[in-house]
Amino acid sequence: MIQHAENMDASDEPTSATAVPTTQPSDTVRIVRKFTFEAAHRLPHAGEGHKCARLHGHSFQVELVCAGKIDPKKGWLIDFAQIKHLFSPLYDSLDHNYLNDIEGLENPTSENLARWIWTQLKPSLPILDQINIAETCNARCEYRG
Ligand SMILES: [Zn+2]
Repeated sequence: MIQHAENMDASDEPTSATAVPTTQPSDTVRIVRKFTFEAAHRLPHAGEGHKCARLHGHSFQVELVCAGKIDPKKGWLIDFAQIKHLFSPLYDSLDHNYLNDIEGLENPTSENLARWIWTQLKPSLPILDQINIAETCNARCEYRG
């Protein structure tokens, strides 16, 4: 009798092995393609005596974050190679260049660089959701349009 009662109690609550999920897993993802380029710049409005007002360089890191639904057939949001292809002209204009000479980057802070990339890339990459720009290991700008 006691054994039977215990079995009845156990059947009322599903165990982890038999539990049925109440919701389907999401098919929305965010993917990140990272690029590194070398460039020189100076920040003309940083203020007199500010170290960033002097000519210097960085190994800039750019993260292009895309968000959307997984293609049910291909199983991906977008081909990473497609992101590289779309960013390539901008990358070429930035890498090993003096950023202040580029139209629209006369004051090339990380914030302005993120916005400059966003403005030019978003039309051809509408799933672009965020751009992260890092000049150093310790500091970065996150921009979401
Ligand atoms: Zn700098």
